[in-house]
Amino acid sequence: MTVLEQLTSQQAIELENKYGAHNYHPLPVVLSKGEGVYVWDVEGKKYYDFLSAYSAVNQGHCHPKIVNALVQQAQTLTLTSRAFYNDMLGKYEQFACNFFGFDKLLPMNTGAEAVETALKIARKWAYEIKGIDENEAEIVVCENNFHGRTTTIISFSNDENARKNFGPFTKGFVKIEYDNIQALENALQNNRNIAAFLVEPIQGEAGVYVPSEGYLSAAKKLCEKYNVLFIADEVQTGIARTGRLLATCGNCSCADKNCSGTPEVKPDILILGKALSGGAYPVSAVFADNHIMNVIKPGNHGSTFGGNPIAAAVAMAALEVIRDEHLAENADKLGRIFREELSAFAENNDLVKLIRGKGLLNAIVINDTEESETAWNICLKLRDNGLLAKPTHGNIIRFAPPLVMTEIQLRECIDIIKTTIASF
Ligand SMILES: *Cc1c(COP(=O)(O)O)cnc(C)c1O
Repeated sequence: MTVLEQLTSQQAIELENKYGAHNYHPLPVVLSKGEGVYVWDVEGKKYYDFLSAYSAVNQGHCHPKIVNALVQQAQTLTLTSRAFYNDMLGKYEQFACNFFGFDKLLPMNTGAEAVETALKIARKWAYEIKGIDENEAEIVVCENNFHGRTTTIISFSNDENARKNFGPFTKGFVKIEYDNIQALENALQNNRNIAAFLVEPIQGEAGVYVPSEGYLSAAKKLCEKYNVLFIADEVQTGIARTGRLLATCGNCSCADKNCSGTPEVKPDILILGKALSGGAYPVSAVFADNHIMNVIKPGNHGSTFGGNPIAAAVAMAALEVIRDEHLAENADKLGRIFREELSAFAENNDLVKLIRGKGLLNAIVINDTEESETAWNICLKLRDNGLLAKPTHGNIIRFAPPLVMTEIQLRECIDIIKTTIASF
């Protein structure tokens, strides 16, 4: 079999099953092309993508501006390593720092690497600036968090699938209930060794849990009170997904064209990944101001590919698309329609317990147990009806289409979702 030969879906699935580690359980659909809000399978069937590669493809599949930046840079210079300077990284760093309102960024490739980077920066800050005794620093995290898959990150996960038989685990993490400000105060109050609080502004993987109004700003205030760094993992929620440039924007309306994008709840450390490249290339970054980022000195941290010229070119293009096409504004507007329509539907349908979310990061909770097959079967039926989504945690289905969707397309998708669920 040559690489040019077109496989059937069945053949492609069999190959992955035979030669690939079984670390995922994909929905049986084999995609070979994408454009905007659409993807096509190898048999040529067209679908609406309602996952957007876990919100990496916010700008839509194969956005021409992003692809062009990728191709142009790939033909010019791909990788130098950070042993030398390259002429793209500084430009990108300036652009992205201005875009998100920070002094500096540290470039990495994947979300998990960026989370690891943030944890390392926070620990070093704790020892060198806050004055915690060496090896005593602790970081507060939330129950049901998702921050990636490295050994340290799974050390503070409570997903048994992600943890079982991967120990021993990294020490130095304190877990508290999400969206519970008293739990945070209790954790900070009696412990002088806390370096940071790491939090997702909306818990995406856990099932799109939106915290109460004011939780993030109250948490930030507590962090200030106890001299603890507030680290926002916006790998999934960031970059216009929730109807704001960042989910930590709180009530500052980035849907407003005049908004500078400066968050109202400004994290001390901001973690971005996924849509930072529009899904074209692995690009992640950690942002902080000088008084924090300057703890990092040559040799302390690095990555061969982090900050490579392709990543820099692609990320700049991807952020320009977000700004120029007003994608935060669009996500905000379409998200409201989506929740309004599906809430009305849920009121007259026993199978849908509720819908929740922000912007175009939404989920429906199916009225069945976490172990039931109902959500999976609904996703199979949605696929048959031309829309791709995936259950998260058994009975929850996340709906996160590319943000370049039009209102007409969204209304067509709402119809597909309603018709499909009504057929159960
Ligand atoms: C996806 C995700 C990560 C991990 O990103 P990878 O690129 O898969 O390593 C971290 N945090 C959050 C909130 C995510 O959604």
